[in-house]
Amino acid sequence: MRIRSRTSALVAALLVALSACGQDAPPEDGQDGSAEAPEAALTAEREVRVQAFTDARIFDGTGAPVMDNGVVVVRGGVISQVGSADQVSIPEDAEVVELGGRFLMPGFINTHGHVGPGGDRSDVGEQLEIYAHYGVTTVLSLGDEAEVPQGERWSPELNRARLFVSGPSLSPESPDPADAEAEVERAVEMGADWIKMHVNAARNRDTYPALIATARERLLPVAIHIEELEDAKGVLEAGATLLAHSVRDEPVDDELIQGMLERDVCLVPTLTRELSTFVYAERPDFFDDPFFLERSAPEDLDDFITPQRQAQATSDGARYWEAQLPLAKENMVRLHDAGVGIGMGTDSGPSGRFQGYFEHLEMEMMVDAGMSPEAVLLSATGTAARCIGLEGILGTIEPGVWGDVVVLDADPREDIRNAREIYGVWTAGNRVR
Ligand SMILES: [Zn+2]
Repeated sequence: MRIRSRTSALVAALLVALSACGQDAPPEDGQDGSAEAPEAALTAEREVRVQAFTDARIFDGTGAPVMDNGVVVVRGGVISQVGSADQVSIPEDAEVVELGGRFLMPGFINTHGHVGPGGDRSDVGEQLEIYAHYGVTTVLSLGDEAEVPQGERWSPELNRARLFVSGPSLSPESPDPADAEAEVERAVEMGADWIKMHVNAARNRDTYPALIATARERLLPVAIHIEELEDAKGVLEAGATLLAHSVRDEPVDDELIQGMLERDVCLVPTLTRELSTFVYAERPDFFDDPFFLERSAPEDLDDFITPQRQAQATSDGARYWEAQLPLAKENMVRLHDAGVGIGMGTDSGPSGRFQGYFEHLEMEMMVDAGMSPEAVLLSATGTAARCIGLEGILGTIEPGVWGDVVVLDADPREDIRNAREIYGVWTAGNRVR
């Protein structure tokens, strides 16, 4: 199922990797006899950009030890070589980026964001630029998208975060498979990569089996918003691909752990989602954080804390989520310790959940909860890619993987806040910061 769900992404990545190796993809169908002959297209000179990052301490996102004095070669946006300085021969035409021993790692992947007009910024392109500025080079947007700039995500020219989308959160009218089919069709029509559904006491407890089954028949992976343990188990049994939030009502148990391990299903903690429900009772400290003010702050920061927002932040609902946050953290650590994949994800994008900055807050909260900085870095890179079916395509520093790279001035394994010490960010080998 994991393989099927990523087939189209894999094909696209392979086509680009092929062309990056100097072999053009076959010409499109539908050209008439006057078009350039295929032989000419195959032998045409192509400008392929080659870069070599040298003297890097490489954290490759696979769990392998960090490599000192490493070299990463990126050709046409895709990593072509990784190794120590004496193993890699730097191509003559490479543009060399000398890193002076800095820490090089894969760009961060946010496995649960929202990119669309519904938050504090309406411009989708700007949202993707802001994510990339903070080192978040891939976002899986689980609802609210208005436009889907999918064509660019496999482009060697990409210069902002890659976007994958689910389309609307689906809610069939009844358990009838025909209603599930109609809902899934709605997402397919807008070009969704994923299917998204909310399951809780108020929504979809009787309709999720048919919806998940229908999505799986269409080879679409399914991310489910869950809150409670029973729903987590139920949607897992029904075939969900991703649990898009923490379990927040009861401690997770062995049944859930075994089910997630057997099906290789990950959990997305979204701890900052909980934080965002209650933190605006007063002006939060991070409003004065220079790192936040770089790009994440809304234009009307001084007017952000309105009486209405404060009332929301002290409502019964907000108090509930605040009270459940420690349990969400404990459950995340328990699942992680048992070997379940944790995919870093924030639910950023809606108002008050600041894209880019909240991914750093999330990683800091994960460490506070008890995961090691190294485990959190993996959950935001290689593991995140695996969780959303993009293993071997994104999230690691390995040949054949897209050249999405973050370079830091300090080692984030020593202190996760060193992930803020960003020297540079590249998407498909293009420097965006
Ligand atoms: Zn969400």
